[in-house]
Amino acid sequence: MSLLTVGTMAYDALETPFGKTDRILGGAATYIALSASYHVPNSNVVSVVGADFEQNHLDLLTSKGVNLKGVQIIEDGKTFFWSGKYHDDMNTRDTVDTQLNVLADFNPVVPEEFKDCRYLMLGNLLPSVQQQVLDQLPNRPKLVVLDTMNFWMDNCWDDLVEALKGVDVLTINDEEARQMSGEYSLVKGAKKIMKMGPKYLIIKKGEHGALLFHEDQIFSAPALPLEEVFDPTGAGDTFAGGFIGYIAKTDDISFENMKRAVIWGSAMASFTVEKFGTERIANLTTEEINARLEEFKNLIRVDIQLM
Ligand code: AMP
Repeated sequence: MSLLTVGTMAYDALETPFGKTDRILGGAATYIALSASYHVPNSNVVSVVGADFEQNHLDLLTSKGVNLKGVQIIEDGKTFFWSGKYHDDMNTRDTVDTQLNVLADFNPVVPEEFKDCRYLMLGNLLPSVQQQVLDQLPNRPKLVVLDTMNFWMDNCWDDLVEALKGVDVLTINDEEARQMSGEYSLVKGAKKIMKMGPKYLIIKKGEHGALLFHEDQIFSAPALPLEEVFDPTGAGDTFAGGFIGYIAKTDDISFENMKRAVIWGSAMASFTVEKFGTERIANLTTEEINARLEEFKNLIRVDIQLM
């Protein structure tokens, strides 16, 4: 089932308690597309990069069945750059630098052949660009998922509120949910956020798992307790890619299936944090994925009797 992703393609410089990297491949669309590729053999991306974006990084995505016809390459521009530093708990981080570069003047153009998409993943980038992509589609997709972050809440709040009106599922982290709703309680906050447009809300809580909200229903998924977390960058985007990829493959948007998609998203994210950047998520085998899903099943299985 056709999946269209919009989001950043980026270079990141990262620092975690375990080490530092200089300009490695990153970006929301990159992680989403790589993660979704394990479900959907072909998907489409709309994004923008500068002339400095390396051919081998484009080739990596293409080799995973990602059609990059919607990626503009700006010859005299530089690729979006983000730098982050993680605290010792690895659950929180500071943004050290965000250089929008080619993203600042990005006017997305959805190629004709991408326009009939059934699933739309509006990955993290300017809310006005997310909106422009949605507006270019002649028919509303079956499911529209939007991911965003505090940077856009701080800088483009009105555009974000507008974009939220047109989405089905919003994915944000706990800190962002609190900022967006002004509520400390995630349950109260979720109710407020769902009144802003999204019918479903996923709140990612890092090593504490993820919550899925819909009307009065709540599903809680654990994160896999890992012995070693090396670099959490991209975990949220990998989660989103696993979630939408599974939904697209199964073509089922029921709440029950979304629960399974949340587990898939969590399983995929658990790989990303094991190595720096995209290294782990770019090279997974079916055996590894299946073993990880088994671990999740064992983690959540419980047989309990009522009194
Ligand atoms: P995550 O850890 O899932 O939040 O995603 C990290 C990725 O998001 C990095 O690879 C960055 O390049 C990208 N990123 C960081 N800041 C932004 C931003 N303001 N908008 C879009 N993407 C961003």
